[in-house]
Amino acid sequence: MTISDNIQRVRERMAAACAHSQRNLNDVTLIAVSKTHPVESVLEAAEVGVQHFGENRVEEAESKIPAANAKSTGSLQWHMIGHLQSRKIKDALALFNKIDSVDSLRLAEKLSRAAVERGLTLEILLEINVSGEESKYGFQATGWRTNPAVREPLFDALRQVAGLPGLQVRGLMTMAPIVDDMEQTRPIFADLAALRAEAEASLGLRLPDLSMGMTDDYPIAIEEGATLIRVGRAIFGERAHDI
Ligand SMILES: *Cc1c(COP(=O)(O)O)cnc(C)c1O
Repeated sequence: MTISDNIQRVRERMAAACAHSQRNLNDVTLIAVSKTHPVESVLEAAEVGVQHFGENRVEEAESKIPAANAKSTGSLQWHMIGHLQSRKIKDALALFNKIDSVDSLRLAEKLSRAAVERGLTLEILLEINVSGEESKYGFQATGWRTNPAVREPLFDALRQVAGLPGLQVRGLMTMAPIVDDMEQTRPIFADLAALRAEAEASLGLRLPDLSMGMTDDYPIAIEEGATLIRVGRAIFGERAHDI
């Protein structure tokens, strides 16, 4: 199977998931997660029309993104999807078009300052930890519906981020836990969609994007309202080392 064949398969499954949930395929964007894979693989995907790519480490992106952009005929959109360290903010802003993994108020504040300094409006997504896994980054949201001790600080933080200059909060992102059966991720994705709706209603925000779903669970994420899916292995194959 070539990268192009793999993308074809992913697009078919995206279309099936959209049909199944009466959604428009145009409302779901595929982000090809190219971490650990070479520029040539990015270009192969770009050749069959993939425009959005995800990377999770600034160091790796530093060599890959400029090279891919220089060689690609189309214009590529790069999404930072991994934990961003403060000291890498400047480098990240020079490489990435969007930061889809803003996982704390402190990071949002620093990105805001950096964006204002550069005179740009940076599109971001806020990473939300709905599953409660301690290994995961993100705004803590486990039990937000029923537990005021979670809900109040969470909504407070969302309100503060939304008010920061230089940033446009486009929506929310989450990572589901690794499970045996992809159906088990459905409640996590549904919870993120519900949180988005509640944040829009109670804070008066517009949060059009939901980034959720990876190789093992993107059809479920689409059924639960994902507007961005982040797919690595199903496109580029297994990674030699996982990061
Ligand atoms: C690696 C990664 C993905 C893609 O995972 P696959 O299982 O290869 O599809 C998606 N999102 C994030 C944040 C990642 O780090």
